Amino acid sequence: MKRREFVKSVGLGMASVAMARPGAMVFGRAAAETPNILFIMTDDHASHALSCYGSRINWTPNMDRIGLEGIRFDNCFCTNGICAPSRAVILTGRHSHINGIRDNAHEFDGRQSTFPKLLQKAGYQTALIGKWHLKSDPTGFDYWNILPGQGDYYNPGLIEMGAKKQYPGYVTDILTDLGLDFLENRRRKDKPFLLMMHHKAPHRNWQPSPRHLTMYDDTRFPEPETLFDDYATRSGAAREQEMTLRQHMEINSDLKMGPAPARLNEEQKAIWEKSYGPKREAFKRDNPQGDELVRWKYRRYLQDYLACVAGVDESVGKMLDHLEKSGLAKNTLVVYTSDQGFYLGDHGWFDKRFMYEESLRMPLLMRLPGVIKPGSRNQNLICNLDFAPTFLELAGIRAPEAMQGVPLVEILRNGKARTWREAVYYHYYEYPAVHMVKRHYGIRTGRYKLIHFYYDIDAWELYDLEKDPHELKNVYGDSAYADVGKELKAGLRRLQAFYGDSDELAQKFLREDLEEQRKSK
Ligand code: CA
Repeated sequence: MKRREFVKSVGLGMASVAMARPGAMVFGRAAAETPNILFIMTDDHASHALSCYGSRINWTPNMDRIGLEGIRFDNCFCTNGICAPSRAVILTGRHSHINGIRDNAHEFDGRQSTFPKLLQKAGYQTALIGKWHLKSDPTGFDYWNILPGQGDYYNPGLIEMGAKKQYPGYVTDILTDLGLDFLENRRRKDKPFLLMMHHKAPHRNWQPSPRHLTMYDDTRFPEPETLFDDYATRSGAAREQEMTLRQHMEINSDLKMGPAPARLNEEQKAIWEKSYGPKREAFKRDNPQGDELVRWKYRRYLQDYLACVAGVDESVGKMLDHLEKSGLAKNTLVVYTSDQGFYLGDHGWFDKRFMYEESLRMPLLMRLPGVIKPGSRNQNLICNLDFAPTFLELAGIRAPEAMQGVPLVEILRNGKARTWREAVYYHYYEYPAVHMVKRHYGIRTGRYKLIHFYYDIDAWELYDLEKDPHELKNVYGDSAYADVGKELKAGLRRLQAFYGDSDELAQKFLREDLEEQRKSK
């Protein structure tokens, strides 16, 4: 792209974001025909592990159905790639530096405006089931039943409207039953509903349902092109993280070569042992080392991760079937997403956090008969900030000015938007902390990505995603990209100003976080 075109597009992007403030046709209370919303979100499900996004490693027929009968967003990104921050952005439609959840350590201030609260006020019955992870009690829900913290895969405890209760069985199945119970028995027939189904799976340490423990035993997964990335052209941030398969993935707990978790009952333990016993024996016998150990870990990791995904895919199928049978399908927006992406051996990693594509990208599928044309595909640059204003506008409610996202309603109706933002903004804060991914912020346009790592490093990275889709060649400082880099930096500063973020604010948060860490030691 020529320099002038680039300037024009980033400039236009900002203008179009400013112009595209919410503007629903109906305001006030939700009308009888306003759509129900079933929002299904998983934890750490990368879009390259959904078959509708071209997965080479698994098959997700039920999730795919939402996209096939609705729209598949190909460029949906998170603004801060870890669990609690992404959830807070989705609820508030505001960036982390404003909603207060910059990392997993902070507690969500439930007094602030959220889309469930606004839907509730407009007459929706609102419910939340599953992972919450924001520390404070949920607000804005008529019914909630949540996992404490990260929750457990087997025989989990849940907190139902403040009361703790134990549930025997597997977490994805339990949450599915609770979701179906809401639709069948708790739903008020005189109101539209919002049901947020937040699954724990496929979060680390990837414990599948007993019925899925052996489903990938015979599968040879193709390896990612970047499994042995040497980070040669990147800054120190990529080398100094602690999330490699090689060094940081734990053989006993992550890859189940240790004893079965104590939470399992005798029957579950027997099934567990039947699956993992032979794998443990083979591991001892083969004793892989070096690159072979990385390959063994990759395969072992995917077997469990993808089996967890299969459990959620079945859950999605059950929810969709219920909507069909009950007649609710025709007036229910169904959404499938995940709080952020994940590294599935890409760059030699697991986990998320970095602004590289595999974890920056979120799967996003939506279906709403009569509004979304089946088989739609969209390439606009959207982000999780846009979810809240979208749901509000679909319900005929004006999104508050303080929300920083843009409603996707025009895209849902027409498959694309006439004008749209030309860049998205990202800011990650959780450092020093688990996995040691350094603090960074950046801009991603349709073609380029510019990242700035700061605090105990001051490094920039620039990628040309068209020429280098795997982000292996950092071209920051390359004279051929001098103009592009300069304009991206200017675009980044404009985005920061637009969203109310800055280096000064980042430094202030850094000082506060370090002070809190010092106090808690
Ligand atoms: Ca997550």
